[in-house]
Amino acid sequence: MTLFFVGLFVFVNGQNISNYWQQHVDYAMDVQMDVENYQYTGTQKLVYTNNSPDEIKRVYYHLYFNAFQPGSEMDIRLQNIEDPDGRMFVDGKSRIAHLQKDEQGYLHVSSLTQDGEELSFEEEGTVLVVDLAKPIPSGGKTTFDMVFSGQVPLQIRRSGRNNKDGVALSMSQWYPKMAEYDFEGWHADPYIAREFHGVWGDFDVKLTIDKDYIVGGTGYLQNPEEIGHGYETSGAKIKKQKGRTLTWHFKAPMVHDFMWAADPEYVHDTLQMENGPMLHFFYKSDPKFVDTWKAVQPMTEKAMAFFNKNIGEYPYEQYSVIQGGDGGMEYAMATLITGGDKPGSVIGTMIHELAHSWFQHVLATNEAKHSWMDEGFTSFISALCSNEIRDSKKENPFEGSYKGYYYLVNSGKEQPQTTHSDRYNSNMPYGIAAYSKGAVFLSQLGYVIGQDKLMETIRKYYEDFKFKHPVPNDIKRTAEKVSGMELDWYLTDWTQTTNTIDYNIKEVIADGDKTKIILERIGLMPMPIDLLVAYSDGTKETFYMPLQMMRGEKENPYPTINRTVLKDWPWTNPTYEFVIDRPLGDVLAILIDPSQLMADINPNNNIYQAQE
Ligand SMILES: [Zn+2]
Repeated sequence: MTLFFVGLFVFVNGQNISNYWQQHVDYAMDVQMDVENYQYTGTQKLVYTNNSPDEIKRVYYHLYFNAFQPGSEMDIRLQNIEDPDGRMFVDGKSRIAHLQKDEQGYLHVSSLTQDGEELSFEEEGTVLVVDLAKPIPSGGKTTFDMVFSGQVPLQIRRSGRNNKDGVALSMSQWYPKMAEYDFEGWHADPYIAREFHGVWGDFDVKLTIDKDYIVGGTGYLQNPEEIGHGYETSGAKIKKQKGRTLTWHFKAPMVHDFMWAADPEYVHDTLQMENGPMLHFFYKSDPKFVDTWKAVQPMTEKAMAFFNKNIGEYPYEQYSVIQGGDGGMEYAMATLITGGDKPGSVIGTMIHELAHSWFQHVLATNEAKHSWMDEGFTSFISALCSNEIRDSKKENPFEGSYKGYYYLVNSGKEQPQTTHSDRYNSNMPYGIAAYSKGAVFLSQLGYVIGQDKLMETIRKYYEDFKFKHPVPNDIKRTAEKVSGMELDWYLTDWTQTTNTIDYNIKEVIADGDKTKIILERIGLMPMPIDLLVAYSDGTKETFYMPLQMMRGEKENPYPTINRTVLKDWPWTNPTYEFVIDRPLGDVLAILIDPSQLMADINPNNNIYQAQE
């Protein structure tokens, strides 16, 4: 009886969920930061649980700070790319190549044991290769104990010291971080300034730093009454630790990274959301930043509420918006954002980075391999959010993403979205494929399955894959389950090829007292077609040609206009003809896809207008 039901359960849920596994890490770190020379030392105890079906003989750690040294892979890549990042490449020169010894970054491991046994390891740039003393069996656990030391680089990219806003320490990618092992194997990518991927786990971090520094970041502070600095419950008496330093104790459950930032001049504001997390804000007390960072606070609350409603409940009790870094970058339970003087731009960045709490920090896709799933989905939902909570009520909030995508197609430099983020030919095709074409993946999916089904897909995707590592097939399967359509063609053509969409109104001809319309598919990527016909008497109607291989129909997107569902269009057929029941003389105009959510690369042939 029991077995029968177990079997049935596996059958209805399909292969993907029943075979799913992910590794688990528990970090305990104790770190001493010297704010005079920006060097730090630490110990790390890491309990690794091997949930894979494989025996593991070797592990890899990321040592990201080694990228900030002349001659590193990041430096060489920077010097050889045709469109280097302006934050890292100034006056024709790599900033990394010109770092002085005491401005460079490094992260070195001086000792490492596995369950008490010494391990041999080798540092290869930003990756530590570790051969194990004894293999970790499938289902087994092992404990690594490490001693490490680092130097915080001058702010070049994402992390570092003394950034252009004057923030002392932006500490992301700062500790030896276990690389991800999943169904595809190891992902020990060298760091060349782009994306991250990590193992889910629990962090316990003790940080000892000069007592004047105020720290914000990932994790809940465990000893607020010893620390103060705005963390204490109001009116509580602070029993500060003795000496020049304070030891901050943070815990972060179920995250895949840990970031912190610190500055002696931080203002620390908090805002408790009703039925929501405590929001923390850290910014320099400099008057030129204060107005902006006050304006950011109520908008963070509004954006959080929007995402809670439209994606799913934010699962942590805390979120921090922190001045730091070199633009905007998302981290677990927090973000680092620079650029204090323009509130509009900081609010826009905050909305984007906060959205990443869902699309990256809870739905932890492999950003390096599927950047369109975190940057693209984040761009999509933050555009919707901006449109709702800010003044800009645009008819198509994704217009900028479509423009970017068309620019990329016309540049001739497009590479498929399956390209690894680090291995695009240059920054432009990566950026547009990830952000713009990734956002269009969703907005255009709304055109295919209908807007309500799209929003339902996003909520179900979050519910089914939170705290996991979803892959492209997971968003497609979710959309299929919600819409009842088959969507493999959509995922394949859009993300794995550079096929484009181009439909044409080929002919509109009189056919007695009727009118014959012939449409043509010019682009290789097929789509279902919505067609609007406007008549000279002021009336309108729409016609819908489902794509045969999607095996379904969306609801009428224009409920106030009469819609005729025509027979399916098989993708193999270059043309499609049908007859409307009105004479040619009545037809004023015909338009393919009035929503403009279908990314047709040539809009000029999507419209027919009657001759005057
Ligand atoms: Zn982003």
